[in-house]
Amino acid sequence: MYTAPKPNSKIIIVGAGCFGLSTAYALSKDKAKEYDIWVFDRGESIPISDAASTDISKAVRMDYGNNTLYMHLAVEAIDAWKQWNAERAEKKLVPVYHNTGMLIFSANGQYAEYEKDNMRSIREAGFGDYIEELNADQLKERYPYLTDTVDNGYDIAYANKVGGWCNSSESIKHLYGECIQNGVKFVLGNEAGRFEKLQVDGRHVRGIITADKKEHTADRVIVAAGSWTPSVIDMHRQAIATGQYVIHFSLSKEDQERMATFPVWSADVSNTGFYGFPCNENGILKIAKHSTGYLNPSSVLNQKISVPRTQSTNPNDTIPKSALAEARAFLKKFLPFTDALDVVYSRVCWYSDSIDGDFIIAPHPDYDHLIVATGDSGHAMKFLPVIGDKIRDIVEDTDSQYKQAWAWKKKEAPKGFYDRPLLVKEGDQDIRMATMDELRAYNKD
Ligand SMILES: Cc1cc2nc3c(=O)[nH]c(=O)nc-3n(C[C@H](O)[C@H](O)[C@H](O)COP(=O)(O)OP(=O)(O)OC[C@H]3O[C@@H](n4cnc5c(N)ncnc54)[C@H](O)[C@@H]3O)c2cc1C
Repeated sequence: MYTAPKPNSKIIIVGAGCFGLSTAYALSKDKAKEYDIWVFDRGESIPISDAASTDISKAVRMDYGNNTLYMHLAVEAIDAWKQWNAERAEKKLVPVYHNTGMLIFSANGQYAEYEKDNMRSIREAGFGDYIEELNADQLKERYPYLTDTVDNGYDIAYANKVGGWCNSSESIKHLYGECIQNGVKFVLGNEAGRFEKLQVDGRHVRGIITADKKEHTADRVIVAAGSWTPSVIDMHRQAIATGQYVIHFSLSKEDQERMATFPVWSADVSNTGFYGFPCNENGILKIAKHSTGYLNPSSVLNQKISVPRTQSTNPNDTIPKSALAEARAFLKKFLPFTDALDVVYSRVCWYSDSIDGDFIIAPHPDYDHLIVATGDSGHAMKFLPVIGDKIRDIVEDTDSQYKQAWAWKKKEAPKGFYDRPLLVKEGDQDIRMATMDELRAYNKD
């Protein structure tokens, strides 16, 4: 059974990513409660280099198909992102959120169901004036550098003026600073900071044991270890770590200027999975795919579980050869000019994919005093400024629509949920990482 922590309780949070830090901050804001908050992370410094939350950019969108829970949460988050920008401007710090708007493409002159649902939900919620539908001619006129894109079939889109991208690493740094200011304590590093197991007395969680074998007692433990969570706590197969890929191109000054009005985009995303970002201040154009992803099965917790494999432990990793081929084939149509560009950086980044795409932020049924905050399913970063408040309500056992939506799941995974391609397979030339040579352009003039 789970009960809310009393004032002055010691609360340990495992994981200093989006979920963990936002929770630490939210709990630390309530001075009357005077919680003693400790965050542990296996990484050496924040932002943690291979955390999902660490990146140059993440999309901040309110376009959520039929799912109005996340749409409204995104609207709340966007206001909070603007507030952060305003507070940072006073301190002469660069903004963490960029309101470029979103350009949401469908293909072949027809909106796909997902895009239709997006627009319907947005209009029904009274935000109809945020969006504008664009046909092929309007797209070409407004974004002349997308003429090939339109001619190749991505010829219908709507623009949402609300949304854009956040500099995710910078925003994690921002929140870390706020946590420090509020007295949150941090224990970092692969020995001192790495959660190894729970300290338990029957069902009762009394704290955690870290890799250096130290015991840390606590009144409540929150495990927010992202895609690593199922490999450190038995999640009853409710979430699995899936590797998703990202590639970067470096644009010439000329291309940067030509595409200066490029917003965050998605390209018939329910069918292709592809989305991307405008060039950042360093001329980097980032493209990613939201998909079923790849698995990296390992033997942990007496089970075969997909465990994140990242460039921290495998510094020469790029992205799967199959992923590169797929991205190049898509871009040949969507942004054909990238055919002549090298992929200058690539990375596999890990989702904690839940069985239904909803987060899992709930007391763990096997223990008392343990909360898990995971199952991000590849879409949580946009909520960074507000997700901690919702998690705090769950930690404090306050009822809310989020508590219900993110409760421990009482259902089975859909058929085929665990069947995804392998990231790498020893000795198989097709199931391997792309080489540096393969990442280079194959269509240079
Ligand atoms: C390729 C990619 C693209 C994405 N794009 C978007 C997007 O455009 N928009 C959006 O909103 N979201 C996006 N997301 C999702 C978003 O990044 C995640 O939802 C969010 O970062 C999850 O935060 P987290 O705190 O759960 O996980 P993480 O950020 O991964 O943090 C987990 C932390 O737990 C720590 N940890 C793990 N094991 C241990 C242990 N044993 N002991 C101590 N610490 C441990 C890790 O070191 C890590 O710091 C994307 C994700 C990926 C991978």
